[in-house]
Amino acid sequence: MRDAASFLKQEYDDLVRQELEWKLRVLGGPSTPWCTVDGKKVLMFCSNNYLGLSNHPKLKEAAMRAVETHGAGSGSVRPIAGNMDLHVELETRLAKFKGAEASLVYQTGFAANSGLIPQLAGKGDLIISDELNHGSIIDGVRLSHAERGVYRHGDPEDLAKVLDEAERGATQHRRILIITDGVFSMDGDIAPLDEVASLAKEHGAMVYVDDAHGEGVLGPGGRGIVSHFGLGRDMVHVEMGTFSKAFGVVGGHVSGSKDLRNFAYNKSRTWLLSGSHPPAVVAACLAAVDVLEREPQHVERLWENTRYFKKAMKDLGFDIGKSETPITPVMVGESGKAKQLSAKLFEIGVFALPIIYPMVAQGKARIRTIMNAALQKEDLDFAIGAFEKAGKELGVV
Ligand SMILES: *Cc1c(COP(=O)(O)O)cnc(C)c1O
Repeated sequence: MRDAASFLKQEYDDLVRQELEWKLRVLGGPSTPWCTVDGKKVLMFCSNNYLGLSNHPKLKEAAMRAVETHGAGSGSVRPIAGNMDLHVELETRLAKFKGAEASLVYQTGFAANSGLIPQLAGKGDLIISDELNHGSIIDGVRLSHAERGVYRHGDPEDLAKVLDEAERGATQHRRILIITDGVFSMDGDIAPLDEVASLAKEHGAMVYVDDAHGEGVLGPGGRGIVSHFGLGRDMVHVEMGTFSKAFGVVGGHVSGSKDLRNFAYNKSRTWLLSGSHPPAVVAACLAAVDVLEREPQHVERLWENTRYFKKAMKDLGFDIGKSETPITPVMVGESGKAKQLSAKLFEIGVFALPIIYPMVAQGKARIRTIMNAALQKEDLDFAIGAFEKAGKELGVV
């Protein structure tokens, strides 16, 4: 008899043969500028902890205090008995920070996208996505029964074409929803949200932006992409984000009108059917919002570091793509070479992972670096020196 589970090993072995399996590294301690990865002290150059908040004393203190006052767990899903005062306070504070009428917190950003998107558009509707949108958006779209359209990455003209075709088509859609990442995580470019929103308005479509890599980074005080473009809430209907990146904790969220909030929490299955955040998580997220409001220096520092690093890398002759954000891809081309460069950097003491096919197109392999506000100038010089040495050895520059 054939073993019904034999495919598990076969498929895993296939991945190993193609060198496509994830080799998990172990962080022995907090995610700080200098940290321990697989037992080696290295400079962290690829975390999403843009502002260094994951180890900020105020966040740690708030988490510990919440354990004392509210316990280790919430006891339930939020619609039944797991809706604590802390959850409500976080949503009020976040909405204020975002300048929105209301916010709703999900367990993760993935849960927000996969829970809300299929409720916003169904049978007879059309969802139009940027072709490079995040996987959690793609899964959300797959769960919906809506028709799907795709426009070329960051290309409003192509979006206009898709909208025109939809209008001229035989079937008239009940609703049209346009979804885009705010900052694209592989290239670090910013979505032309202003143009997307104007086109949407012209065509009576709804706009949903996933700002996971934009909040804490873009806009005044790190308020995100909607503030960055100065767009009104009548132009961007759903601003989705996460506490797992610049906010340094974990948790997804959406901001917009009160109507959006009321709709979202009553309809999103991921929200209704999954336990709510433990008090320590909620309190740390609250403290993160507080730090962003009171300590604008972190966002300023992030951008100073970003400009310094990009300039030095360009001067050395590295191709750093067309990023406009603290995500700086160091283009290498061939997958094997990107892996070698990453390994050499690690040897010298810089932790930055290669991004290779199928995460990016063939021939577009790169080392993706993500800047951090907690890095000092000496740290940046160390990293730049490491790139220079390893890059020259491998003939990348
Ligand atoms: C990381 C990320 C998510 C998922 O957020 P989590 O809170 O970590 O689940 C969603 N969208 C984008 C664009 C992301 O980069």
